[in-house]
Amino acid sequence: MAPPAAVVLHAGSIGGPDSHRRTAAVEAEKPDQDEQENAGYPSHMSTADKLRILADGAKYDASCASSGAVRHSVPGGLGNSDGNGICHTYTPDGRCVSLLKILLTNYCIYDCQYCVNRVSSDAPRARFTPREVVDLTLEFYRRNFIEGLFLSSGIIQSPDYTTEQLIEVARRLRQDHKFGGYIHLKMIPGARPELIKAAGLYADRVSVNIELPTQADLTRLAPEKTRVAIEGTMAVVKTASDESDEDRKKMRRPQPFAPAGQTTQMVVGATPSTDAQILTTASQLYEMHRLRRVYYTAFSPFPHAPGNLGSVGDSRRREHRLYQADWLIRHYEFSAAELTTVAEPNLPENISPKLAWALRHPEAFPVDVNISPREHLLRVPGLGYRSVDRLLRIRRHHAVSTADLVRLRVRMAEARHFVITADSRPLPIPPGRAFAQPEQQVLAW
Ligand code: SF4
Repeated sequence: MAPPAAVVLHAGSIGGPDSHRRTAAVEAEKPDQDEQENAGYPSHMSTADKLRILADGAKYDASCASSGAVRHSVPGGLGNSDGNGICHTYTPDGRCVSLLKILLTNYCIYDCQYCVNRVSSDAPRARFTPREVVDLTLEFYRRNFIEGLFLSSGIIQSPDYTTEQLIEVARRLRQDHKFGGYIHLKMIPGARPELIKAAGLYADRVSVNIELPTQADLTRLAPEKTRVAIEGTMAVVKTASDESDEDRKKMRRPQPFAPAGQTTQMVVGATPSTDAQILTTASQLYEMHRLRRVYYTAFSPFPHAPGNLGSVGDSRRREHRLYQADWLIRHYEFSAAELTTVAEPNLPENISPKLAWALRHPEAFPVDVNISPREHLLRVPGLGYRSVDRLLRIRRHHAVSTADLVRLRVRMAEARHFVITADSRPLPIPPGRAFAQPEQQVLAW
């Protein structure tokens, strides 16, 4: 697909009212690559205007949790990624954001239908230079507004060129400014492996968005993207991470590669794909590419969104249930296939996936908390994995009673129907609707 007109403009082809003065000033300063590359974009736009547009364009990306990396400050350097006292901000839909989360540009040559930045969108456009992003990051960090940077971008010219620009920001921060804060870089599927590897040397975390659960969904809504290219980039990250782990065993001071690992994001609700398909894809990605997290983002229709996009049910609630199911896969030894059925390929919205599984499997209960193995205890609704581990320690010393479960903060409203303790038998299991949670309770976790 041809790039949008704005992307192929060359230096000097757009000028604001004072463009001649700006040109003279830039020449006097001996322009670096930034100015030359940015010259095709509206020069009259202030940094604040760009920030408004490019922070807004990035808000749909959820894959930016900063947990998992520890980077200590160095003498003469700035910041570290393991400190507290960092200001947190919240997106309009309530997600906690403590990073400067922006796009390098929201120009994009691709036309992903679910994205507000696609080439055919009429959203206002802007582009930062690498220097502007570096300056903003340092400024915000010094003011304690942020703990680091989450940088993504629309695709300008090509995946390689875009990735080079992202790397340049991270390189300047790390090498020129000794920035020790957190950096999360979004990788562009299809970029050369050498570039992906270079990005991981500067970033704490990298992510490649899987975007949609199936290739058929991609073909329909993101025709320039393929599962093969996306997973190919994930595989490069995994291989580089594995090599870095090996180096750590052999070398005293190996250069870490994306120590906080890689994540991905999946848009939910833009296509009719079921939760079964979404969880199967997530599960495969965890297994094959050692992902730290899959983030699910409910598709939120934006102004002038194409009319062919679906919106399935209450998407916030659905997103929440998917996170619960994902948690069960990662921490509770559930497989994706166990959490839905052929007849019900979507997770129930009114009860948790774990409770839904328990109600479908009465033969697995009751579970005796004093003798059952860990894997059975993990399946009890209301029992968290930390509570299970504490319970296993307690029962070495004495028989576990209902009071012990209460002390462990087990959710007894659910658990008491499924467990035997030293002093109680399970209550009868009521129909699933008896456990239904009101909306506010579902989303308040
Ligand atoms: S490549 Fe990324 S920024 Fe470009 S349209 Fe697709 S999702 Fe949006």
